[in-house]
Amino acid sequence: MADLTTIETPFYLYDLDLLEETVSSAMKEAGSRGFFVHYAIKANNNPVVAGIIRDRGLGADCVSGNEVLKSIELGFPRKGIFFAGVGKTDREIQLALDEGILLNCESVEELRVIEEIAESAGRTARLALRVNPSVEAFTHHYIATGMDENKFGISTAHLQDALDICHGSDFLDFVGLHFHIGSQITSLEPYKRLCERVNQIWKDFDISGYGGSLLNMGGGLGIDYDDPEGNPIPDFASFFTVFSQTLKLPGSISIHFELGRSLTGQCGKIVTRVLYTKQGVGKKFVITDAGMTELMRPSLYQAVHKIKNISSSGNPQTYDIVGPVCESSDVFARDATLPATARGDLLQIFSCGAYAESMTLNFNLREKPSPVYLSEGKLLTAGNYQAVNSTTNL
Ligand SMILES: *Cc1c(COP(=O)(O)O)cnc(C)c1O
Repeated sequence: MADLTTIETPFYLYDLDLLEETVSSAMKEAGSRGFFVHYAIKANNNPVVAGIIRDRGLGADCVSGNEVLKSIELGFPRKGIFFAGVGKTDREIQLALDEGILLNCESVEELRVIEEIAESAGRTARLALRVNPSVEAFTHHYIATGMDENKFGISTAHLQDALDICHGSDFLDFVGLHFHIGSQITSLEPYKRLCERVNQIWKDFDISGYGGSLLNMGGGLGIDYDDPEGNPIPDFASFFTVFSQTLKLPGSISIHFELGRSLTGQCGKIVTRVLYTKQGVGKKFVITDAGMTELMRPSLYQAVHKIKNISSSGNPQTYDIVGPVCESSDVFARDATLPATARGDLLQIFSCGAYAESMTLNFNLREKPSPVYLSEGKLLTAGNYQAVNSTTNL
């Protein structure tokens, strides 16, 4: 079987055993509290990764028509697929109606459009209203979504209008409320406040009276980017406990979550080779064959990923670790400490299982790398993964 050093770099390396363990933990902790989990497929739509998640019985959370189609193609049951997004096109809404997918509606105008399309198609749209609870997520402002003046969701000032429209329409089937306050949230405090807001909103707007029986609390649980090896599996027990302890709603309501990063984030790494080391005026640079095209998070929102040199055990030195792409923001780390590093060394970039492969760019006409899988201690490339897993329907 291949060993790491002989595989063409850069590549995504997925630890499928860790993925199974992570998803099992999430499902156990959610299931024991009666909660349902959907996988936010935008985190990683790799078919092997998503296939393992589908096999564990999760639903799918989608933010585009193509993600809906992909989820169906991967075998996620239609009734477990949710479709959110502030800018659904008419075609995407039509697709959701044709496939019987639950829509998470994000504005009053969208609601009118859904009604129009449903009426002319002679269908009834099942939908939840995404409400903006105005809860601060304390995460990077690019990934916070739950404050009042935010493009996501309907503010409580407009919720009554939305409920009235649903109530007065033969083509809209209102099923409940959806919330999602942001991503990479590492404190449970915002979730506690979200639960308190939800209790209030459910009561103030008499959501049960309007026929609401589904509550979707979204995702956003963070992972430990500083210590991925010491802390590979998020604390799902504490996370779900916040909801089971703080939500005070009628027992007949089904409670759903949409987890992305926390399920797949720690299961992936990027393996990249050092192309050059360069002495600058005051700094030393390590130039890798992976760049922002394979991992956009550092240049998009100053994310910091742990990086290890697995080829060297030399004395520690300070480097800026940069990619080959023609953008000054193509930097993985500034003033990072690595053992003395040379051309040809292999680096591992940790925590690349979410928002890495799914965010690849074609910029500079870069090629999308082929993923490699680690399963029961064996390394498998995409081709031989398929061969040994003929039961997994890719
Ligand atoms: C992105 C997204 C999620 C998942 O977020 P994570 O931080 O990856 O858990 C859940 N729900 C919606 C609506 C999203 O857009």
